[in-house]
Amino acid sequence: MGVMRTLVTGGAGFVGSHLCDALVRRGHHVLCLDNFLTGSPHNIAHLVGHPRFELVEHDITSPFEADVHRIYNLACPASPVQYQRDPIRTTKISVLGALHVLGLAKRCGAVVLQASTSEVYGEPEVHPQKETYRGHVDALGPRACYDEGKRCAESLFMDYQRRHGVRVKVARIFNTYGPRMRNDDGRVVSNFITQALSNRPITLYGEGLQTRAFCYVDDLVRGLIALMESAPSFVGPVNLGNPHEVTVRELAERILRMTRSPSPIEYAALPRDDPSRRCPDISLALRALDWTPHISLEQGLRKTIDDFAQRAALAVPLWSSAKTPSEAEP
Ligand code: NAD
Ligand code: UDP
Repeated sequence: MGVMRTLVTGGAGFVGSHLCDALVRRGHHVLCLDNFLTGSPHNIAHLVGHPRFELVEHDITSPFEADVHRIYNLACPASPVQYQRDPIRTTKISVLGALHVLGLAKRCGAVVLQASTSEVYGEPEVHPQKETYRGHVDALGPRACYDEGKRCAESLFMDYQRRHGVRVKVARIFNTYGPRMRNDDGRVVSNFITQALSNRPITLYGEGLQTRAFCYVDDLVRGLIALMESAPSFVGPVNLGNPHEVTVRELAERILRMTRSPSPIEYAALPRDDPSRRCPDISLALRALDWTPHISLEQGLRKTIDDFAQRAALAVPLWSSAKTPSEAEP
C-alpha cells in the first residue's frame, strides 16, 4: 500500500487534533472532518498547508464520500455542558454519525474506529469497570442523549460487522485531558485550571468526593492508534484510560498547589446523574494492545497548566468559530 489515507471526524477537537498530529507524523495522509461545533480551527492551524493534511468542513449528520483506508470517528461534543446544550442534536450526532462512517467504511473497505466512552457504564455498580460490565445508565436523564447515543453507536458498529463484514474497532475512552482543551469547555480539568490561573473560585460540585481517573491525551492517542492497527480479529470494546483514581476534591487541591493559586473552593450542587465513581480496568488493553498509560497526573497537569497559561498570555481565542452550539444548529 502507498500512503495510508486516514479520516478523522472531529479532527479539530481536543483529542482529534492531537490524533491528526500523531497520524501526520506517522506518514498518513489525514483528512480532518469537522463542523467546529466544539472544536476550533486554532487546534489544527499548524497543520493547514501541510501536504498530507486536508480539512473538510462538514456536519457528520449528513452523509459524505471519501476514499480512505482508516476512519477514526471522534465527532461528538464530549463535555457534559456542551452535549446537554442541544441534547437532541447530540443523539443525532452519535447515531447518524455512526451510520454515516459505517456506510462509508462499507463502501471503501476502510477499518473504522468508534470513540465510545466510559459513560456507557452509567452510574457503575461494579468497580473498577471491565468491558464485560453491561452498565447502569438512566435512559431518561440529562446525560442520556450522550450515553444512549454512544451505546446505540456501539450496537451499530457490531451490526455492521456481523451483517456487512465491516472491520470495526470500539474504544471506551475514560476522562482524558491535556493541552488544547477549551477553557470554556465545562469539563473539570479545564474549569479548575482556568479558575486557578485567573484567581477565581474553584467550582466543586457536591462535596467533591466523586472519583474520576484522568488520562493524558498523548497516552490516549497512542492507545487509539494501537487499537486501530491491532489484529483484524480484535474488535473490542476496550477501555482506554488511566487507572489512577482520585476524588474531584483531590484534583482541585492538586491544581491549586501546582498553580500556587489563592482561589477559594466554592461548593455547588452536584448535577443529576453525575457518576459517583469511575475508574477503568485496563487489563484487556494491556493484554490485547500491549498498552498502558505512561504519563502521571502530575506530569500531565504540568503540561496542561503550561498550555493554558501560555494561551491566556497570548490571548489565543479558544472559541474562534464564532458559533455557539445553538447558533450552529442545522
Ligand atoms: P471535543 O468536543 O473537543 O471534540 C469533538 C469534535 O467533534 C469537535 O471538534 C467538534 O467540533 C466536532 N463535532 C461535533 N459535532 C460534529 C458534527 N456534527 N460534525 C462534525 N464534527 C463535529 O471532544 P473530545 O474530548 O476531543 O472528544 C472526542 C471524542 O472522544 C468524542 O467522540 C467523545 O465522545 C470521545 N470521548 C472523549 C473523552 C474525553 O475525556 N476527552 C472521554 C470519552 C469519550
Ligand atoms: N466537576 C466539578 N466542577 C466543575 C466541573 C466538573 O466538581 O467545575 C465534577 C463533576 O461533577 C464530575 C467530575 O467533576 O463529578 C468530572 O466532570 P466532567 O464534566 O469533567 O466529566 P464527566 O466525567 O462527568 O463526564
